[in-house]
Amino acid sequence: MRSGHDIGRSPTVAEFRDRLHEWLDAHAAELAPRHPLPGTLDEQVAQMQRVKAITYEAGWMRHGWPERVGGYGGSPVLRTELGAALAARDLVDPGLFSLVEVLAPTLIDFARPELAAQVVPRLLSGAEMWCQGFSEPGTGSDLASLRCRAVPADGDAASTTAWVVNGQKVWTSLAQYSDRCVLLARTGDAGSRHRGITAFFVDMDSPGITVAPIEMINGVREFCEVFFDDVVVPADRVLGEVDGGWAVAMSILPYERSSCFWQRIAFLYRRLEQLVGLVAGTEDERIAGVVGDAYVQLHALRARSRVTQHRLASGETLGAETSIDKVLVAAAEQAVYDAVRRLAPATVALDDSPEGERWRGEYLYSRAATIYGGTAEIQRNIIARRLLGLGADD
Ligand SMILES: Cc1cc2nc3c(=O)[nH]c(=O)nc-3n(C[C@H](O)[C@H](O)[C@H](O)COP(=O)(O)OP(=O)(O)OC[C@H]3O[C@@H](n4cnc5c(N)ncnc54)[C@H](O)[C@@H]3O)c2cc1C
Repeated sequence: MRSGHDIGRSPTVAEFRDRLHEWLDAHAAELAPRHPLPGTLDEQVAQMQRVKAITYEAGWMRHGWPERVGGYGGSPVLRTELGAALAARDLVDPGLFSLVEVLAPTLIDFARPELAAQVVPRLLSGAEMWCQGFSEPGTGSDLASLRCRAVPADGDAASTTAWVVNGQKVWTSLAQYSDRCVLLARTGDAGSRHRGITAFFVDMDSPGITVAPIEMINGVREFCEVFFDDVVVPADRVLGEVDGGWAVAMSILPYERSSCFWQRIAFLYRRLEQLVGLVAGTEDERIAGVVGDAYVQLHALRARSRVTQHRLASGETLGAETSIDKVLVAAAEQAVYDAVRRLAPATVALDDSPEGERWRGEYLYSRAATIYGGTAEIQRNIIARRLLGLGADD
């Protein structure tokens, strides 16, 4: 084990944070990106896997994860602090890094214990990447209408040794880099909607899988179409119960909307600070107002997100109220990048230096904040109907 990680296995959050930052300072050169920011997606992915490997070996990446999957136990808030520190120091892209938080808990909660013990350490340590195969052409917000189908290869659903998957997924982030996919497929009849879906953990090198990257508006090929043609998945790769995939899908939300958001918030604070540096010295009387507005939105989000994280850490079940966090994070992210566009328009629109390229790429990506992880309209429907009682769900 690398020196510097000597805080034992049960630090308080404050101890963890202080010692982590000391360690990150001491290892800054080793952890620093090998490329000028922003770098290509290949470079960003390689950097993330390298940072995961170093921090896993040093022990930091194991705090907040259960011992049965190679972790040191302790509050999930510890791992959130690590992600926030790495994102705020520009050591990992928060969007890429957040997939750990989205997918590892699913395996921990729903895979066979032996499988989880085998694969989760590989994800945490940067030996593997995984992707989330939920959305399909025509199936995003209305996820329960998905059509990708899995049928028993032999016998019936209860006795089969394998399943055969056919169908298509789309917008699958980082599928081209992924070793495995958490896949939702229909196993019941189409009329059964939520009850007829099963979650699978699929090896991406299985015969019959084709991955086709899609270019986003910022020029990056971050997400993909994924085609499944007679892909055989062993029966012991079912996550949870056959026809019980809806519970698996819903279990992702609490993590996606707590730890992941905390990391992104840390990153957005840093970028807002960097914007202030960028426009310092310019004679623009709007600076205080525009930056102030973005700061207030970010701060309100942080206050909300802190409560959500502590609720999760204390064992509370998170539900529809996390839609508020999702609306706030999208609004704050867009406010930060709207501030950049308003105060430094030439940087966003015209500057071809790496810095300009980075601001432009992030500005364009921020437009997706009201889409991924549940669209803003859907979140507002949930808030109206389930939290405010303004009518039944569709
Ligand atoms: C950057 C990015 C990364 C992504 N990564 C992944 C991934 O890794 N894995 C994955 O599975 N998916 C991923 N997605 C897909 C994402 O989950 C979907 O885009 C999202 O759920 C919306 O679905 P859709 O695109 O089909 O839009 P639709 O559901 O077709 O919605 C289109 C528009 O109609 C509105 N709308 C739909 N239904 C209603 C309604 N009932 N009431 C009011 N308005 C409504 C929506 O708000 C939206 O404005 C990603 C998306 C993005 C942008």
